[in-house]
Amino acid sequence: MGWCGKSIKKAMNMKFKKRSIRHIQTYVAFRNKRRGFDKETLCQRLVLLSEEVGELMKACRNEIRGNRRNNLRAISEEFVDVINVAVSVGNTLGIDLEEEFLRKMDIIDKRMAMTKKLKLQKT
Ligand SMILES: [Mg+2]
Repeated sequence: MGWCGKSIKKAMNMKFKKRSIRHIQTYVAFRNKRRGFDKETLCQRLVLLSEEVGELMKACRNEIRGNRRNNLRAISEEFVDVINVAVSVGNTLGIDLEEEFLRKMDIIDKRMAMTKKLKLQKT
C-alpha cells in the first residue's frame, strides 16, 4: 500500500488539480517508484532531507555573502530538492500533505484571530 492508503497507480488515475500539493505528492511517489527509490526507509529519507536542507542553507549563505552570481537559480534548485525529499518523507509516513497543510493553516489562522481578539480586549 502506498501513501494515503492508495496504490500509486490508483492515485495517478485520480483527478487532481494540476500543481496542487496532492498532485505534487503523487508525482513524487510516481518518480520515486520509476527510479527505484520507492523502497527507501524513513531513516534514509530523513538523512537525505537534512543533506538537502544543508545544501539550501549553503546556497542562501552564498547569497548573503554575495559570493556567487545568479545564485537565485542555485537557491531555487536546492529549495526544490528540499520539497521533493520532504514530500517523499510524507509519502513514507502515508500523510496526505494537502489535507494536513490546509488543516494546519486553519489552526494558525484561528490562533492568529484569537491573539488579535485578545489584544483588542486588552486595549
Ligand atoms: Mg541538492
